[in-house]
Amino acid sequence: MLELDAGAGCWSWMLELELVLVLVNPELRGRMRRYTRGEFLSLSAILAGAASLAKLPFNRAGAQRPTTEPLPQRGAGIEADFIVTNARVLTMDATQPRAEAFAVKDGRFLAIGTTADIRNVATQRTKVIDAGNMCVLPGFIDAHCHPSGVSELFGVVVTSLKTKAELVEALRKKAATTPPGFWVEGELFDDTKLTDAAPLDRHDLDRASTAHPIAVNHRGGHTSWYNSKALELAGITRSTPDPENGRFFRDSSGDLTGRVAELARGVFSRAGQRERFTPEQQRDRSRQGMRHISGLLTATGLTTVHDAGANGDRIRAYEDARANGELKHRAYMMIRGPYEQLRTAGVYTGFGDEWIRVGGVKYAADGSASERTMRMSTPYVGTNDYGILTMTQQEIHERVEDAHRNRWQVGIHANGDVTIDMVLQAYERVLKQWPHPDRRHRIEHCSLVNPDLLRRIKAAGVIPTPFWTYVYYHGEKWSQYGDEKLRWMFAHRSFLDTGIIVPGASDYGPGPFEPLMALQSMVTRRDYRGREWGPNQKVTLDEALKIATVNGAYASYEEKTKGSISAGKYADFVMLEKDPHDVDPGSIKDIRVMMTVVGGTTAHTAT
Ligand SMILES: [Zn+2]
Repeated sequence: MLELDAGAGCWSWMLELELVLVLVNPELRGRMRRYTRGEFLSLSAILAGAASLAKLPFNRAGAQRPTTEPLPQRGAGIEADFIVTNARVLTMDATQPRAEAFAVKDGRFLAIGTTADIRNVATQRTKVIDAGNMCVLPGFIDAHCHPSGVSELFGVVVTSLKTKAELVEALRKKAATTPPGFWVEGELFDDTKLTDAAPLDRHDLDRASTAHPIAVNHRGGHTSWYNSKALELAGITRSTPDPENGRFFRDSSGDLTGRVAELARGVFSRAGQRERFTPEQQRDRSRQGMRHISGLLTATGLTTVHDAGANGDRIRAYEDARANGELKHRAYMMIRGPYEQLRTAGVYTGFGDEWIRVGGVKYAADGSASERTMRMSTPYVGTNDYGILTMTQQEIHERVEDAHRNRWQVGIHANGDVTIDMVLQAYERVLKQWPHPDRRHRIEHCSLVNPDLLRRIKAAGVIPTPFWTYVYYHGEKWSQYGDEKLRWMFAHRSFLDTGIIVPGASDYGPGPFEPLMALQSMVTRRDYRGREWGPNQKVTLDEALKIATVNGAYASYEEKTKGSISAGKYADFVMLEKDPHDVDPGSIKDIRVMMTVVGGTTAHTAT
């Protein structure tokens, strides 16, 4: 039906019009699969020409072009900004899964094909990136993350320290440059990663300083360790009772260990002295934090990150960083805090643009997977502990109804099977009473499932966002759940088998955000020690790549503009030193990320 006349140097107005129709109706692009690669390339290139035509008044784009005006040559006006050649491109586009090269113009993919094909859209001004047979994929999408960057930039990050001695040394160094009485804090700590036999306690931290209050905060966000000075300044002694929603941990003789959980940590925020910042300084720190974290995220190949709890400060940080040319990744923000103000102002899901977009509203209904507090129908191994709920069913119903009826996507943190059931009840209720053809409410984490929950998630069109680096990274914690539960946790395989469009999520800080670690974790279901957890949930590498790209785009309603290397989509891609298909699945995480490009702009290059 579509006949391309390669020799004529022009195209008929009929063809032109049809191409414009294809352009404005992406569904029609499905026709492309009927063409050979060469034809497809030509079509892609012409589409770009049609894009500029589409911006013209119809009488210029249509049949009434004056015949005296020179007709455009094939290729005129479609000069690529740059092309990538000699690559192993895994497009994640079913119509053309593999390619060697592609062209980019104005931040979008212009054409995809062989190296020889793509050279045709290059001119002398076109930059050529020879990939040297390296692997190129669409940029990775993390569907649940907490990117702030402030503590990473200004605090003492202790994640990589493996012994108490190293930890103490890092804190001592910081204390040496901090006035006495002022806080020294270690960030992103993981208690189960220390190699010492005895757990960290306040006496260890006293070796770093007795003149400064010290806190070491767990990366999961629910527990902290304090030194003796901090306990003294907060007035906590061995006779202090535990508050209702928290705990001061004690040893067998009743002495404080310095470990403190949940709301018991509140008293420390009022003790000691902290550096104070003016609102302007605070705003600047947030912007700098965003610049910093954006650099870290894109260095791992992430190009879109769903922020699972953006407040006013965070929203402003995105905007400030962008205005300064420092925002390298795209953000889909789940709003926490100013939801009601935004809703009242008339904002709803989808507001914003391709860089900073308002996504859903975010709530949290139970505890944590990594800190072993999520609410389950059966207890933690060897205990009577079923975990904790943080919302009632009534609260969930009310929040969901309000958001749903105001055209907001909802994302509720629900790890345990009990909590997932409660959230599903609320989604099922509103979808029945106020149907929506494509609402895509989300269950954040959705860690522990069963066949009934899977069936209901599918039926309600709900999107789960299970952890994707946890099996690998948090392995030493899973014995507290046991092998049987792990068969149904982080259940990417079960979601796929049920026909659910499941993305992947780090929940950084609690989990690492490196997407290559995530691919390895989902494919092998082995932790960093090699122990296998829930092998029935393994996915293939190709499925893992889909989870990391196409499915991530779907979770934010952006599958038409992101997630694959397809003509017309944003030019978000990552170049890897090796094709993950070619390495041992147990070493996927070690592949080097050579280059990350977002919207045609280089965000990261390997040094
Ligand atoms: Zn989270």
